[in-house]
Amino acid sequence: MFLIKKQKRKGLFRKSNKYPIIDLDAASTTPMSLEVLRKMHPYFTDLYFNPNAIHSAGQLVASEIYLKRKEITEYFHVQNSNILFTSSATEANNWVILSCAQVILPKGAKPHIIYSAIEHDSIIAPIKALENKGLITTTVLNVDEHGLISVEELEKNLSENTALVSVMGVNNEIGALEPLKEIGELLNSFKHKQNTPYPYFHTDAVQALNYFFWEDIKGLDYLTFSAHKIYGPKGIGGLLIFNAPSFKNLQPLILGGHQEFNLRASTENVPLIVGLAEALSILNINKNKEIKYLTKLKKSFLTNLLKESQFIEVNGSLDHSSPCILNCYFPGVLASDMVVGLSEKGILASPGAACSANSTNPSHVINAMYHNKIRAQESVRFSFNHNLSLNNIKKAACMVGDTYNKLKKV
Ligand code: PLP
Repeated sequence: MFLIKKQKRKGLFRKSNKYPIIDLDAASTTPMSLEVLRKMHPYFTDLYFNPNAIHSAGQLVASEIYLKRKEITEYFHVQNSNILFTSSATEANNWVILSCAQVILPKGAKPHIIYSAIEHDSIIAPIKALENKGLITTTVLNVDEHGLISVEELEKNLSENTALVSVMGVNNEIGALEPLKEIGELLNSFKHKQNTPYPYFHTDAVQALNYFFWEDIKGLDYLTFSAHKIYGPKGIGGLLIFNAPSFKNLQPLILGGHQEFNLRASTENVPLIVGLAEALSILNINKNKEIKYLTKLKKSFLTNLLKESQFIEVNGSLDHSSPCILNCYFPGVLASDMVVGLSEKGILASPGAACSANSTNPSHVINAMYHNKIRAQESVRFSFNHNLSLNNIKKAACMVGDTYNKLKKV
C-alpha cells in the first residue's frame, strides 16, 4: 500500500527516472534538517504533555516553551522583545495588519496603511479586504527595476493617520533586499515628532532571517517569520514584537483560551516550537558559512545558465539581493511551460511565489518592477538550499538552458 502511494506521488512530477531530482525551489520550502527532527521527536512521544496542565509533567513542557521563547528572542539580539508563536507567517502577517487596522486615531480617522507593491499575498490580501470594506485607507509604494522601494516616496506619503508601514526584508520572488535600516530611521523620527507609538513598522522577514543584523535596525515594531523556510518544520511561524506599545496594540485573532499571553488561544504546538527554535539556532551558528555557500551556488548557476543562451536576462539586481534567490526572464517562453518542462527532467523551480504558482496571472512582483506583463509571465524563480552540490547546480543550469532553447524553437 505504502509503495503504491509512493510511486503515485513520484509520478506527479516526474515522467521518467532518467534524472535525479534537483530542488531549485528553496524559497518555497526547505528540506527539514535531521537535527531539527531529532530535537522535536521526544515532544511527540515521551514529552507529549499539555503545557497548560498544572501537573508536573505539563509544567515541565511549559518551562521548555519558556526557554525556547527566550532562546528565539536572543537569536534576534533585540532587547526586551517578545515572541508569539503562530501556525505560519501568513497568520502572523494577517495578525499585524488586522491589529493595526484597529488603531484608534484622533477624530475617528480611518487608519492608513502603507505597503510595498511587491509584498507577499499574505500582506496584500488582508489589506485589500479591509480596504474593500472601507475600514482603512492605503498607499502602495512602487519599486524600481531592482525591486527596491524609495524611502523618499515613503516619507512623502506618511501622515498623522498612518497606523502601519509594512515592507518585507527580502522579496520572495526576486530576492531584493529592502532598505529596512533607512525606513526604521525615518519612522523613528516621525513617531518621535508626532509623539505617538504609530506608525508601527512591520517587516515580513520570511526570506530575510539570514541577511540582516536585526539589532542594527532601529524603529522596528513587528517582524514575522516561518520555520519551514529555514530547514525547520511546516505549520509554525513567529511574530517578534519589539516593544511594549506594539505588544499592547495586538488584538487577539483566535479566542477561547489564555495561551500566548491571552492573545492566541489553543494548545501550544510544543514539538513545532522546539523545531523552530532549533532551526533558528542552527541558522545562527552557520550564518556566514551558509551565505558564502549559497552565493557560490547562485553565481555558478547563473554563469553556466548564461552560457546556454544570449536571450536570458536576470530580473532585478544581483548586487542587492539574497544569495538564495535568482529570477530570470526567458523571452518567448511561458514560465509555466518552463517549470513543467524542467519538472519532467527532475528540476524543481517556480513561476513565482509558491502560493500563487497554480495561478496563470503574471507575477505582480515582476510587473511592478518592469510594468511588462509579458516579462512577468516569462520569468522563472530559482532558489537554492544548502544541500545542493556545485556539481548538480552546474548540471541543472545546462538543463535549464537546454529546456529553454528547445521550448523557444517550438
Ligand atoms: N511571506 C513571504 C515573503 C513568503 O515567502 C511566504 C511563503 O512563501 C510567506 C510569507 C508565507 O509563509 P507561510 O508558508 O509560513 O505561511
